[in-house]
Amino acid sequence: MKKANISIVSMITVSILLLVSLTGCSVLTAKPISSFAPVQNTTPPDSGEVLTAIVQAKSVVKPGRNAFVLLPAALNIPSAVNFKFEGRDSFSNTVYVDACRYYFALDDFAALLGGKSSRDSNTYTVTIGTKAYTFDMTKSACAVSDGSSIDLVDIPVEKDGLVYTCMSNLTRVFDLVTSWDLENQTVNFWLDEHPIAQGTQKTLTGGTALIRLEDIYTDGQNNADNALAQARLRAVADLLYGKGIPFQVAWIPRCLIPSENIDNDCETTWSICNCGFVFTLDYLQFRGGSIGLHGYTHADGNNATAAGTDFGKTQNVTASACQAEMDRAKNAAVELKIPYTFFEFPHYAATAKQIKVAEENFNIIYQKYPAKKNQKQLCSVNGTLFVGTPIGYLNNKYELDSFIDTIKSVLTKNELGSFFYHPHIETDWIEVTQAPDIYPSYKYAPGSPLQKILETFEQYNYTFRGISDISSG
Ligand SMILES: [Zn+2]
Repeated sequence: MKKANISIVSMITVSILLLVSLTGCSVLTAKPISSFAPVQNTTPPDSGEVLTAIVQAKSVVKPGRNAFVLLPAALNIPSAVNFKFEGRDSFSNTVYVDACRYYFALDDFAALLGGKSSRDSNTYTVTIGTKAYTFDMTKSACAVSDGSSIDLVDIPVEKDGLVYTCMSNLTRVFDLVTSWDLENQTVNFWLDEHPIAQGTQKTLTGGTALIRLEDIYTDGQNNADNALAQARLRAVADLLYGKGIPFQVAWIPRCLIPSENIDNDCETTWSICNCGFVFTLDYLQFRGGSIGLHGYTHADGNNATAAGTDFGKTQNVTASACQAEMDRAKNAAVELKIPYTFFEFPHYAATAKQIKVAEENFNIIYQKYPAKKNQKQLCSVNGTLFVGTPIGYLNNKYELDSFIDTIKSVLTKNELGSFFYHPHIETDWIEVTQAPDIYPSYKYAPGSPLQKILETFEQYNYTFRGISDISSG
């Protein structure tokens, strides 16, 4: 059982801003793979965890485990989720859900895309025109006849004598876009009319920049606001991908908002909102995002998710409690098949003991190592890489000018160009069109805070790198 002793507080994010130089650290050594828990190439769902038909319920509680405290709305269900292809009801086979993802028979997509399918014992191939896409039953990658390979979330699954794969894989392999009507329980697929090409950064040799999209979570409500927020987040990922900028994503697995009686956990509740959120996390990764665990709830006693913290001086203070909370976060990632590359304490709040436990669990901790005065922004401690964010973050859109001054002052000193950004600040610049049976699109206006920030890094010839590609040496 989880505790749910919580109450209201406004959203406040705190951060540190330290300008420290970057030299003289040792080289990162890797943790044993077992402590890193890659989930991308693991085994298929075991037979005890079969796909669950979603045609009867909009919100499925994961079978075989005790539910946490669910919203009454999540228990008071029961209309079907509708799936459409270009505005039409198009799927003849049952759609299933597992780990907050919808699974479709490849037969359906082969037919919808005007392709031919063929199958042998280990592969399923869809041929569309001159291109063949081969799904291997043992691999989380799809081989294309032009010699390329497309990474998938997971390996194909066999069910009802058919081969199934999830929405994230389908959209990526076949260049599809989606619209999500959470209120009316409808997901619509469309052929992508304007596929985005991966961009290239201006310089690949300058100083190192890092961007982390901060406080990414969902309250699980099936409403229009969440549908729009998810679409905008995908638009931000498109922007970064179009510029060739790898990025990090600070994900909070479980959301607690006591004032609204919300306790939302994608691991256990597969509502359409949560499925849309996990789809969006997959999408961020396909666009060059590396996911990290930003606590488990980022909440405590009187403070809601993103305002409170589940670590620090008052929460999970013993080594065993700290380990248990980190285990809950890691398990959420494993259960949801979301690979993670780093850990970040909420508000960077951590005792020396908690830091030590984190070192035992993670290869990368995405905050400055706190032990010493004038500590380096990048350093390796006991084989764990600590990565600071000396530029801090933009508090709101009105403070952009002073934030850009801060960036310039850090880059002028040739220091680590590392910062984090709350994507909701982009809201006013991204106009999403997402209505029933209409091709989904968005307009991303130029001159948004994020675009101006990225331009500043370019002016200083800084290069954005993925956190897995840097070292302290
Ligand atoms: Zn946070």
